[in-house]
Amino acid sequence: MEMTGAFKAYDVFSLEGQLKIDSIPLVSPKLQSHIQANPEKDLVLDLSNTGFMDSSGIRLLVNIKKKKEATKKKLYILSPSDRIRELFQNVNLLDIMDIVDSCEQVHTKSVNNQLKKYESFAHAEGDLLRLDLSCPLCNSCQVAGYSINPHAYTWEWGEWKWDGDELFPVAKSRETGSEIDFFALHPIICTQCLLCSTDNVWFNAVKDDTTPVESGLDIQLRSKLTKAAKERGRIAQTNFVISDSFFDAPRDSKASFLLYALAADCAECLPLQKNMFIRGYYHYCSAKYAHSSALQEIFGKARTWLAGAINDSESYSPSELAKIFFMAMNTAYYLNKENEASSAYDRLTSLAGNIRPGLMPSFDDPHFWYSQAGKIREKRGNTN
Ligand SMILES: [Zn+2]
Repeated sequence: MEMTGAFKAYDVFSLEGQLKIDSIPLVSPKLQSHIQANPEKDLVLDLSNTGFMDSSGIRLLVNIKKKKEATKKKLYILSPSDRIRELFQNVNLLDIMDIVDSCEQVHTKSVNNQLKKYESFAHAEGDLLRLDLSCPLCNSCQVAGYSINPHAYTWEWGEWKWDGDELFPVAKSRETGSEIDFFALHPIICTQCLLCSTDNVWFNAVKDDTTPVESGLDIQLRSKLTKAAKERGRIAQTNFVISDSFFDAPRDSKASFLLYALAADCAECLPLQKNMFIRGYYHYCSAKYAHSSALQEIFGKARTWLAGAINDSESYSPSELAKIFFMAMNTAYYLNKENEASSAYDRLTSLAGNIRPGLMPSFDDPHFWYSQAGKIREKRGNTN
């Protein structure tokens, strides 16, 4: 059994050969520990290469399904053979198991689930969803937050493209073919106290004067972030004149640059573990919108945090690691550190080697970043 796909919302494991009593001890512990470590993800078991299954195999699947459902997540069975479908039928599991024929179906289902999560507290503004959020620090409803309207964009499950800027991909509209700068859209900000993050879980969801989902920030973090509000004001006021619509979409590069500077400042309040990636990511993103004279310093900061993340690589998922190595390679190139860039690329190569590419280019597929990294290297004349 091997992991053959890693995405934000789910991971894919492929089961080769037979699933029966003597192979269970090889498979079960690996799956159980994955489930324990990833309670927030769906799980896909690819049975396309599984020839045979006995009752202990069935028991294992039922057991995993129960475990996933305990955290409100799903187990999908991908492409089982006719023989296995028949077996499911015989034990009345055919209608109970979530059987899919492709990972694209899983993508669609997970996008629809995400959309359902948003729909109750977001309203459409053209191709975008404007999130109805309030700030957990200052209670203001002046929060500017957007998401791509999944009905309009092939969001998450396809048509991410490399176009124009080779360091940052764009998402493409399914209907109009127009492109959207996802990075400019992404950070959410309270325009009153300047709390800023790409993670909507930081904020309260609002619907008809109620709060169906409370902010995930704990009291300690709230108090740290409240204390840091002055510093955020200082960051904003030294460089910008902020009007009422300053942070509304479409955001210009000034607003986007400030958002990432504020998001990076807010991220400093987070506990260090698992967040070196976030800090590196925010600095890297701010480079997209920065004045060229600031790039040296920004890439320097990104490099520091990304190096920390690389040193702690077991804390990150394959899709996070792919972005980490991709960004580390590009920051190293910018800073003329060829060996460091090569080493980041080598790590990305071996990561991609262990995971099969997804069906469509996706932001969370390590191969999406790997193939672009290869192109960047080729252009620079590093073809190995
Ligand atoms: Zn606020």
